[in-house]
Amino acid sequence: MEDIEELKDEIESLRFEIESMRKEMKNITPHKHCLNCGISIPPDQTFCSKKCEDEWNRMLKRKKTMMYVWVLFLVILFIILIASGL
Ligand SMILES: [Zn+2]
Repeated sequence: MEDIEELKDEIESLRFEIESMRKEMKNITPHKHCLNCGISIPPDQTFCSKKCEDEWNRMLKRKKTMMYVWVLFLVILFIILIASGL
């Protein structure tokens, strides 16, 4: 019977440990992830470093340029269709 009591004590202390771990995790929760690389950062920041911000902006610029190219392509296609008399 003593063994069971010991086991109970161990389980109780384990439960306590898990509970405190859970509380700790809750304390970590308010944070964001870097938009570029996904690393954990303070909630008042958007990127973890200037390098990531630059990378992200470069990517956005490239995306925007690609969109302009597409719009231009569609406009030219449209003009060709109209010019050919439909
Ligand atoms: Zn980053």
